[in-house]
Amino acid sequence: MKIYAVFGNPIAHSKSPFLHNYAYDKLHLDAKYTRYLLDSSDIKEIFFKLNLNGANVTVPFKEAAFNACDEVRGIAQKIGAVNTLVRENNHLIGYNTDAFGFYKNIENKNLKSALIIGAGGSAKAIAWILRQNNIRVIIVNRSKQNLIYFSKNGFECYLSNDLNNNLNIDLIINATSSSLKNELPLLDSTLKALFTRAKIAFDLMYGRKCAFLELAKKQNLACIDGKNMLIYQAAASAEIFFGINEIKFLSAMQEGINILGDI
Ligand code: NDP
Repeated sequence: MKIYAVFGNPIAHSKSPFLHNYAYDKLHLDAKYTRYLLDSSDIKEIFFKLNLNGANVTVPFKEAAFNACDEVRGIAQKIGAVNTLVRENNHLIGYNTDAFGFYKNIENKNLKSALIIGAGGSAKAIAWILRQNNIRVIIVNRSKQNLIYFSKNGFECYLSNDLNNNLNIDLIINATSSSLKNELPLLDSTLKALFTRAKIAFDLMYGRKCAFLELAKKQNLACIDGKNMLIYQAAASAEIFFGINEIKFLSAMQEGINILGDI
């Protein structure tokens, strides 16, 4: 039997084991997916000690996972963060499926420009996948340190206090952790001005009350939360784990997703 896991801290809340195991059963895969509370960043040693075939990595270990890999493939090389690990000939290979998971939500929406609020790990994944798809990207963050990476890579960056409220942007993304506390990531007045000209508001958070999306809804914007990003990144990881087409895995997960309801 092949064994997979999700690493993180905290990890008890993770829905990944349920979703993966549900699909493994449906697809009759001889595999099991579990969770592992990591208390150090010694990911490579633990991965091999647990005799895993593959793993997902969540907050706060995605950068540590990137550094632990013998080889990093695809867009993860640019992002500098890995959320999917596999074993190949006793080497640890890393990928990033968050970028794909995000992009699947908006790929047919004909968007020309996006504002990413936040400059952490998920903002990096989103910025690169948007750029790869020829969407203009602007990053805004409350503090300077995390913006350095983005300006070094040629992204247009602003501190929250310096952002021009009159920007004409199609997609406004909250990639901060503000929604964990149900706070807005920018001033109410700034968001209202941005939403006036936008088409879609996207918050990476899911399964909770979200001040950012509530404000956007009041201004009649289409709203997307992070639920499908989680589901799509899981399907993309499974494609890497088993070589199963991501759409086939999604349909195997579907009933499980319905059982979970508003995760
Ligand atoms: P990081 O910790 O790497 O970055 C957090 C960012 O949020 C930083 O830019 C930080 O600013 C900013 N920030 C934190 N609190 C506030 C606040 N109150 N107001 C304004 N800015 C704030 O986090 P991640 O990028 O890994 O994750 C961000 C969010 O996205 C999390 O809630 C996470 O759960 C969610 N997520 C969802 C996924 C999904 O599949 N749906 C996948 C990945 C992430 P500063 O630099 O100044 O500290």
